[in-house]
Amino acid sequence: MRELLSQIEGLLGPSHIPPGSVSRGFRRRDPLLEEKVRKALQNLDPPLGALVTAGWNSRMRTTAGVAILGCNQIWLHPGLREVSEEEVDRTLLHELAHLLARHRHPHRRIEPHGEEWRVACRDLGIPGESRTHRLPFQARRMKRHFILRCPVCGRHHERVRRPRRPLACLHCCLTHNGGLYDEKFRFVVSSKDLQPEDY
Ligand SMILES: [Zn+2]
Ligand SMILES: [Zn+2]
Repeated sequence: MRELLSQIEGLLGPSHIPPGSVSRGFRRRDPLLEEKVRKALQNLDPPLGALVTAGWNSRMRTTAGVAILGCNQIWLHPGLREVSEEEVDRTLLHELAHLLARHRHPHRRIEPHGEEWRVACRDLGIPGESRTHRLPFQARRMKRHFILRCPVCGRHHERVRRPRRPLACLHCCLTHNGGLYDEKFRFVVSSKDLQPEDY
């Protein structure tokens, strides 16, 4: 829950945001996600299904998803779509299990990833779900993490890892130096903080 709480500030707003609209510029409802929610709940809790708002939040960093209990909202990291549809569905159900557990026990104090949540996960078809939902996204953050830029021609490449050896721009070495390495054309390496897609 701590990772959820950190995402909540600024999100506690009206629970009804028109589909497809932008709210404060970084959240967007997605009718397809909401349809998945209703399908997942159709035999479990249709009234809850009618209440849930689901969409994408482009401000998320390392958290894959967040469930806001007070207003039955689920927000997912837009980058999940590039991981896989399974990852989107799994994260959606993980967050939905938080809402379902709360909806089933409105007056009891329950642990965020406690027994009630685990039962909800099982009922939603993701038994044994992990309590953290960061890994798939961190895996994605590893991608395209370093930029190699040629100081002469400006060409650049992206790499997952920082190069261990000095690398020079092939284009410039070929054009100006007969294809041999020259320190002049050595790439400048910078790290890139991968941003979620903008909306
Ligand atoms: Zn969780
Ligand atoms: Zn170059």
